[in-house]
Amino acid sequence: MKKEFKAEAKKVMDLMINSIYTNKEIFLRELISNASDALDKLYYKDLSSDNSTDKADYYIEIIPNKEERSLTIVDTGIGMDETDLVENLGTIAKSGTEAFKKSSDKAELKDLIGQFGVGFYSAFMVADKIEVLTKKFGQDKSYLWESVNADSYEIKEADKKDHGTEIKLLLKENTEDTNYDDFLDQYTIRNLVEKYSNYIRYPIKMLVNKTRKSADSTEDEPKYEDYKDYDILNSKEPIWKKNKSDLKDKDYINFYRESHYGFDEPLSWIHFAVEGVVSFKALLYIPKKAPFDYYAKDYKKGLELYSHGVKIMDRSEDLIDDAFSFVKGVVDSDDISLNISRETLQQDRQVRVIAKQINKKIRQALSDLMKNDREKYESFFKEFGNSLKLAIYESFGANKDDLQDLLLFHSRKEDKLVSLSEYKEAMKSTDENILYAVGDSLDKIKNSPALGLVDENTDVLLLDEKLDEFLIKMLKDYKNLPFKSINQEEDKEGEEKDESTSKLIDFVKENTPDDVVDVRFTDKLKDLPSLIKQRGEVSIEMEKTLKNQPQAMGIKADKVLEISKNTKAYTILKENVGSDEAKAKMIVGLLLDQARLMEGLEIDDPVAYTKNIWKLI
Ligand code: ADP
Ligand code: MG
Repeated sequence: MKKEFKAEAKKVMDLMINSIYTNKEIFLRELISNASDALDKLYYKDLSSDNSTDKADYYIEIIPNKEERSLTIVDTGIGMDETDLVENLGTIAKSGTEAFKKSSDKAELKDLIGQFGVGFYSAFMVADKIEVLTKKFGQDKSYLWESVNADSYEIKEADKKDHGTEIKLLLKENTEDTNYDDFLDQYTIRNLVEKYSNYIRYPIKMLVNKTRKSADSTEDEPKYEDYKDYDILNSKEPIWKKNKSDLKDKDYINFYRESHYGFDEPLSWIHFAVEGVVSFKALLYIPKKAPFDYYAKDYKKGLELYSHGVKIMDRSEDLIDDAFSFVKGVVDSDDISLNISRETLQQDRQVRVIAKQINKKIRQALSDLMKNDREKYESFFKEFGNSLKLAIYESFGANKDDLQDLLLFHSRKEDKLVSLSEYKEAMKSTDENILYAVGDSLDKIKNSPALGLVDENTDVLLLDEKLDEFLIKMLKDYKNLPFKSINQEEDKEGEEKDESTSKLIDFVKENTPDDVVDVRFTDKLKDLPSLIKQRGEVSIEMEKTLKNQPQAMGIKADKVLEISKNTKAYTILKENVGSDEAKAKMIVGLLLDQARLMEGLEIDDPVAYTKNIWKLI
């Protein structure tokens, strides 16, 4: 009996074979999943009957045959009758597993993996002919289903003794791009099973070549012989499904290394299970060190995603927030459908529910670590603090409520890292702002003139990371306490100017560049003759940072020049405005240049500056 595939099937198949799966090797994962499904189906049937099958009879076997260039996947599952073959293998995207699920109400049935009905055809990526020899459990007749190039298929009666299915792939001819013979190699097969199907619940066995000492081997003259024996290729019980109490630190560390999450030991791990609308288990790791490319553009985050013992994604980006891109690990949920492409996965509601809980768990773990092992947390923060900061910055502060309590900043008073809540805790009741100072290094900030003017009992956060100031702009406030730079100009409320002061201010303004937007005379500068404060959004540090970026050319901070009333410069200035204007101008120039130098800003004319100083002396 020869049959054509149902309408449009071929087109769908071509599309599937050539585009959905870019990775040929996953055909083995699909066939093993189907075999595992078939075993599940028999298992559930068995549970509801009296004469149960021996557990040992449930297995999957892989048989490579190099002479024939064939790869056979055998299972002792439920098998298919003629109708099943037509219905399930003759119709693309008609999943028999889906129908089976609907026909029964057993809760365990949600354990069955198939959802889509194109998995089987992925085998045509590597085979030009496929033979399916199968016998349904409890029936007499067996069948051989054959298809060449997925053009049409034929079903004949056959002669199979036991129930179950054998799927034989006759591999394609090797091409320049693909050596299909690789799939007959026992090491390749072993690796593929380990990679994709390690945690299938039934044993996956294969007859492999081994060597041993032969009977006539002696100590002086060792002799070896080849023999064949079955190996079980999968490990069956994954670490994340085990009980925490059965696991030691070394188990977790080994798994971290085996999974190539990192070479060293992880900083810590989170192993948990969630039962609910969507149930899942997860094992997550926080590495000790950031990978060398962590802050590079092409670094890829993501967790491994398993469903029903099958790895469906190597790196599911949707499971983890950008802030926690450094987290490695696995998530396993039987509530996730075995989708075929990552596009569909992204939209999966279940994935979003899981992601939400995972990110919450990571936040909690980090916050616990901060509380319980400060030293460890600080070493974490040194490596990954910028990841948290960047995430806040890039979301324009949208996620600040989730992340701000994980941040640490250097405190001037404590001379160590403090959290924002610790800063707040230590504030005096009269303080209205969280004060901060920005600079290239802690030393430079500590020596900055503006910091010297802040009362020693008031704490100031010293921000020495380029990103920090931009971060603060996004945070705006912490629990209603606004952040304020110590370089920000003071409110001018209650300030009164007499006529001569106004005249003086006008003179200074006229003789300074446009970025000096205001001038103030003050007695709060202690022994400093002058100081630059900033007004508005662009700070002095930002001006410095932006100066090196060609696309931001010319952006300058609006500056307020504060001039101390307690220094000689002020007296000379006052005396000479209206009489010796040249001298007055020189004084203004010096006051501005000195203030610029103290802030680490360049001055326009260093030569004139130097000469003027000597003139005065
Ligand atoms: P899915 O597994 O998503 O249902 P597949 O294309 O992988 O889609 O398989 C189609 C259907 O063929 C399965 O649902 C199942 O009914 C049947 N099938 C495939 N392989 C086997 C097998 N080894 N034993 C029994 N039935 C199978
Ligand atoms: Mg399948």
